[in-house]
Amino acid sequence: MSKVLFVVFNSPEAETAQGFASATGLAFDVLYVGSASGSPAGAGAVFHVPAAPAADSLAKPLAEHARTYSHVAAVSSMQSKDVMARVAGILDAAMVTDVISASGPTTFKRPIFAGSMISTVETLATPVVLTVRPAGFTKGAVQGGPAAQELSWTSEGTTKKVSENVHGSSRPDLSQAKIIVTGGRPLKDAETFEKVIGGLADKLGGGVGATRAAVDSGIAPNEAQVGQTGKIVAPDLYIAAGVSGSTQHMAGIKDSKIIVAINKDPDAPIFESADIGLVADLFDALPELQSKV
Ligand SMILES: Cc1cc2nc3c(=O)[nH]c(=O)nc-3n(C[C@H](O)[C@H](O)[C@H](O)COP(=O)(O)OP(=O)(O)OC[C@H]3O[C@@H](n4cnc5c(N)ncnc54)[C@H](O)[C@@H]3O)c2cc1C
Repeated sequence: MSKVLFVVFNSPEAETAQGFASATGLAFDVLYVGSASGSPAGAGAVFHVPAAPAADSLAKPLAEHARTYSHVAAVSSMQSKDVMARVAGILDAAMVTDVISASGPTTFKRPIFAGSMISTVETLATPVVLTVRPAGFTKGAVQGGPAAQELSWTSEGTTKKVSENVHGSSRPDLSQAKIIVTGGRPLKDAETFEKVIGGLADKLGGGVGATRAAVDSGIAPNEAQVGQTGKIVAPDLYIAAGVSGSTQHMAGIKDSKIIVAINKDPDAPIFESADIGLVADLFDALPELQSKV
């Protein structure tokens, strides 16, 4: 049967299901995988699983449920890449990651070389497993159908998550945030980063991002890293302070609607991609901005 199974790990991801499925021209079902309380409206089936199960324990039951579908898709995230690659392995299916557009059920576009080129991929067989970037697809609520089918899930993985250390934060998740304030290497230390970058982000109700240089120097936490090897983001407003604009960083922010760069070097590469650029010392500009918001 040619149909999309859209796997949702966090309920806002369900908003991309309709847009992706209509780009492929196929009908779709939503399968929600998560805690009992978080199930999105319109999910056709749910796996209620404990918080943060190991990826391999999810992949097998997911693959079993997906066997009748031609396309198995999920929004690109660290978790979906981990789980969906295993699902593709079990189904012996082709995998296309980071899809930004689809024209029909077999032709997909995806960025390559850190986003500097776009490749068109044609799949020749089904099933196909995909991860998709939400920014490329129209968003909409999933029409509510009959009550979701509860699927039984038992942890049968070969690995077990013994503990998870999540940095408690009330800030929005970067992959869903409408506003992101990001800081780079010049922030010096974690305390300064939190005060200058975190302070403005909180005033704006936004998320906090960081470059890899900031993360590697211990200034910012790992989960804040944005870019090729960090999170891919698509906010309405992305404010980058003390960020040079390396290709690896820009690969993660290309889908932002407005990029504001604050850098004291007028020749910093980020100004080539920024919609608004301010040549200034971030330690002057950000506190001033914060005081005026
Ligand atoms: C395989 C690979 C993957 C990578 N993945 C990522 C990734 O996912 N994300 C990522 O970010 N990087 C990634 N990198 C690293 C990337 O190449 C850059 O090294 C990194 O992005 C630079 O971070 P930065 O802009 O904070 O630091 P820098 O390059 O040191 O730039 C700092 C900038 O701040 C400006 N500045 C200095 N002081 C001030 C001040 N007081 N006020 C205002 N501006 C100031 C400077 O003019 C400069 O432009 C990757 C690299 C490799 C090789």
